[in-house]
Amino acid sequence: MAKRDYYEVLGVGKSATADEIKKAYRKLALQYHPDKNPGNKDAEEKFKEAAEAYEILSDQQKRARYDQFGHAGMGGASGGPQNMNMDDIFSQFGDIFGESVFGDFFGGGGGRRQQQRQRGVRGSNIRIKVKLTLQEIAEGARKTIKVKKYVVCDTCHGNGAKDASSVTTCKTCQGSGYVRRVQNTILGQMATTQTCHTCHGSGQQVTANCPKCHGEGRMYGEDTITLDIPAGVHEGVELSMNGKGNAGEKGGPAGDLLISVEEVKDTDLKREGNHVLYDLYISFAEAALGTKVEVPTIDGKARITIPEGTQGGHIMRLKGKGLPGLNTYGRGDQIIQVHIWVPKKLTSEERKTLEKLREAKNFIPDVNETRKEKSFFDKMKDMF
Ligand SMILES: [Zn+2]
Ligand SMILES: [Zn+2]
Repeated sequence: MAKRDYYEVLGVGKSATADEIKKAYRKLALQYHPDKNPGNKDAEEKFKEAAEAYEILSDQQKRARYDQFGHAGMGGASGGPQNMNMDDIFSQFGDIFGESVFGDFFGGGGGRRQQQRQRGVRGSNIRIKVKLTLQEIAEGARKTIKVKKYVVCDTCHGNGAKDASSVTTCKTCQGSGYVRRVQNTILGQMATTQTCHTCHGSGQQVTANCPKCHGEGRMYGEDTITLDIPAGVHEGVELSMNGKGNAGEKGGPAGDLLISVEEVKDTDLKREGNHVLYDLYISFAEAALGTKVEVPTIDGKARITIPEGTQGGHIMRLKGKGLPGLNTYGRGDQIIQVHIWVPKKLTSEERKTLEKLREAKNFIPDVNETRKEKSFFDKMKDMF
């Protein structure tokens, strides 16, 4: 099934303000919340869909990227927010509802939700660059790369404990991960909930650290990651893969891997949007007599015919030999501009031949003909 447009999911317009987006999401999140729809798969899907849309549209950078490239700009099949799990979704709720509002709404909030939300410390994002040739941009590329980063400790699987018996329930919060505090204010007594300072919200205490990671739950290492770069990206596009950044501390969620695209300059072909430009040089004799030449394209060599009497500056188009767009159908074109190569040094024999041709009437530019030639700018206008 095709992914729905994020604006459509939240039921807001493309120009919606941050506040309108937040409100729309809050409404949907309450409506489809799993606690209110137990066992309802459809509601769960809607809940996740709304969370994903909010995740993108609430972030200025991600929203701009989405507006420009659509779903393709969000990391393609391999990453992107579709991999959000319930923990990620609940972790947004701190911003949306505020801690106590959420707790009140769903029956006192002692639960699982808050506990999960605050487990460990989130790992940081990692930024990498990936270089792509025009060929790779045309077809999309799969790259397998090694990234040096924090990975989850394979001995303790992230909780930082030596073994199962060295994990106990936090005595301060009795395992709930938060403590309730009653404060006296001018409005009377107010109860607030705060993250437990002893266990930092995990509800657990580790009595003996994992010997390998010394209790951190992660170690510096290396991960092999497969990137699927969609066709049609360009210099400066940033793709993200959720959860592929640094592992979190003590079982916290991993950060994201942010991939920025760099184009490898092609020796012959120059990119102009989705089109590719090529400067073709032929000799004066070839221009006058006509010829067949091979030109490089993204897809390999192509043979083209230069008709006799071709003028310098003539522009030819190879349809569909350009690049695809991220969100458009089909490919751009390759545009070839013909240049006449003028020799820079002549032998005396060549000089004699040319001096003879100079006097020939046929070789003098004919004003009536040259006026019919389109100007360079008109030709370019026709092309784009
Ligand atoms: Zn460990
Ligand atoms: Zn605690």
